[in-house]
Amino acid sequence: MTDLAAPRRRLARPPAHLADLTVDERRAAVTELGMPAFRAEQISRAYFTRLADPVGIVDAMTDVPVADRAALAAALAPEVLSEVRHLTCDDGWTVKSLWRAHDGNFVESVVMRYPNRATVCVSSQVGCGMACPFCATGQGGLTRNMSAAEIVEQVVAAARLLRSGAAGEPMRLSNVVFMGMGEPLANYRPFMTALRALLAPSPSGLGLSARGITVSSVGLVPAIRRFLGEKIPVTLAVSLHAPDDELRDSLVPVNLRFPISEVMDVIGEYASTTGRRVSIEYALIRDVNDQLDRAHLLGRLLRGTRTHVNLIPLDPTPGSKWDASSPEQQQRFVDTVASYRVPVTVRDTRGREIDGACGQLAAAARSSSPADSGDSSSDS
Ligand code: SF4
Repeated sequence: MTDLAAPRRRLARPPAHLADLTVDERRAAVTELGMPAFRAEQISRAYFTRLADPVGIVDAMTDVPVADRAALAAALAPEVLSEVRHLTCDDGWTVKSLWRAHDGNFVESVVMRYPNRATVCVSSQVGCGMACPFCATGQGGLTRNMSAAEIVEQVVAAARLLRSGAAGEPMRLSNVVFMGMGEPLANYRPFMTALRALLAPSPSGLGLSARGITVSSVGLVPAIRRFLGEKIPVTLAVSLHAPDDELRDSLVPVNLRFPISEVMDVIGEYASTTGRRVSIEYALIRDVNDQLDRAHLLGRLLRGTRTHVNLIPLDPTPGSKWDASSPEQQQRFVDTVASYRVPVTVRDTRGREIDGACGQLAAAARSSSPADSGDSSSDS
């Protein structure tokens, strides 16, 4: 782990890493080093299959001549994120990590263990440009897009942590949710490169199942349609947060460009094309969107569609005017929506005792770091 106060290095882009490259590009990069192309598979195996970290990857390349290992690791597997700290709660079933990127920016990921599966929630951007007023990340705006390798490294690190037994009984990572900081579809190409690396079988990638991956979007209709064209049957989650345009315009400002009717159209296309139920994310906010007339509106909006409502009890950021609904009102809301035969679940509130809401840990790190520069360089 590193020191929060360590000086920030300022590079325009994150260091190049094999996870930023396609299989062919990895082979070309290795050839440029004067090595046989199959070294690309060997270093990929060390990273994706043996889950080697930047320090251990030289030793992990047991099938590569010793003389080639350091140059290969330096060119294709440099450190892209360094862990500043990790915090555990829920009796060790939840581990939240704070990462520092090459330019001193902070992002977060969270590993959640369950009896029969393990999930990592990853960030896809430093900050977020969608400006949802109740969200800690949205308040800071977008600093920059993350590289594919920065996204992938959060997943590899989670798999490494779970396999090592440092977070309880050793187990395999089964699920990835793109619900951390940022809007993944607004960082389209790096997100897609990362997703392909997660899905590619060993040694090219982590070999995860598309069914275990959830991609959350605020409702960028053209980007969802473009993603649908990729024909990768992951679960889509759409952050709706309000059933009517008047309220959604203020809670999710992108609604001014893509109103609910257009969002519902693309949700229908996604569900019918993939055969997958789309998850409707709804952060329940006291006296803002938790009224029963809005529950009826939501029920009517979703009745007969292939959707599932995931209610998220709001985790208020310190000093925020937004608050969570009472448990009683939450239950009334659930019952009302369910009366329209729309499946509803309430998201568990893992990690809340450790600045759990998306962006809170990174925001705290930013404000406590004397090296904070407000650097807003972008690689997009
Ligand atoms: S709720 Fe999601 S889309 Fe909205 S600002 Fe926060 S991270 Fe961005």
